[in-house]
Amino acid sequence: MKRVGVLALQGDFDAHRVALEAAGASAFDARSLEDIESADAFVLPGGESTVMGSLLVRFGLMEALVSRIKAGVPVFGTCAGLILLAKTIEGREQPGIRLLDIEVKRNAYGRQVDSFRAPIHTRIPGAESLEAVFIRAPKICSTGPGVEILAEHAGDPILVRQGNILAGTFHPELVEGAAIHRYFIGM
Ligand code: GLN
Repeated sequence: MKRVGVLALQGDFDAHRVALEAAGASAFDARSLEDIESADAFVLPGGESTVMGSLLVRFGLMEALVSRIKAGVPVFGTCAGLILLAKTIEGREQPGIRLLDIEVKRNAYGRQVDSFRAPIHTRIPGAESLEAVFIRAPKICSTGPGVEILAEHAGDPILVRQGNILAGTFHPELVEGAAIHRYFIGM
């Protein structure tokens, strides 16, 4: 993996760039069609999935992003980024990439004041015990047969992988260590 393009239309893309660099990757803010066409991998940050999805369409980036991910370019979506990747969003239509075979419920833990930190365990070697930050996080309600569950919290999947697509409902860019970013770079 050479250069990771962090989608920088909205949300906490800065923190991802820092985490990717801490994990040994080279990262840049991806905003243009040229950025989307040239990145070797993508990170889709947390933020507002409705805003990011609309901006991807408005700036004419959605189709290129979808086709590069379909072609196997690795992508890591966190929180709103996971919602963008999800095939189905419970009770709602919004612009999305829709390549990850999961159904999600947005804001499933409640409002901003209900955001929380929790210790989690993952099946990723070197990242077995972590702290996770959930900010108006979505819940994964169901996963398709090709989706591997890499971590759960209170019985719900919170980190999943389907081939070149990695996605989490929490914010690994906000904790020290960049352990999950390291795993992603290995993809
Ligand atoms: N609630 C946001 C959404 O639905 C996601 C929150 C986040 O990315 N921290 O897009």
